[in-house]
Amino acid sequence: MGFKARERKHKEARGEVDDKNKRADKTGELSCGIKACNGWADKRLGGRSISKNDVQDIWGDGSFIASKGRVKVCKPCYRIYKKETKDDKEY
Ligand SMILES: [Zn+2]
Repeated sequence: MGFKARERKHKEARGEVDDKNKRADKTGELSCGIKACNGWADKRLGGRSISKNDVQDIWGDGSFIASKGRVKVCKPCYRIYKKETKDDKEY
């Protein structure tokens, strides 16, 4: 039995492996600021905080939840934002 396997056994005994599995799944704590979206805006899941004005331009007024002028968005929403703002610059 190699070192890694032995280490894993120890961790299982202390319940650490279970904990890691929980952290690896896709459940976050911060929900995406876009109301129509069910994604997670946690940083470790790729979430970002973007300007309220930009969100307003893309998703429309009242379709998001802002705090202090910023909207926390999930990774897919951030992708949309990046795409939209990039398009704007090309005009
Ligand atoms: Zn989202």
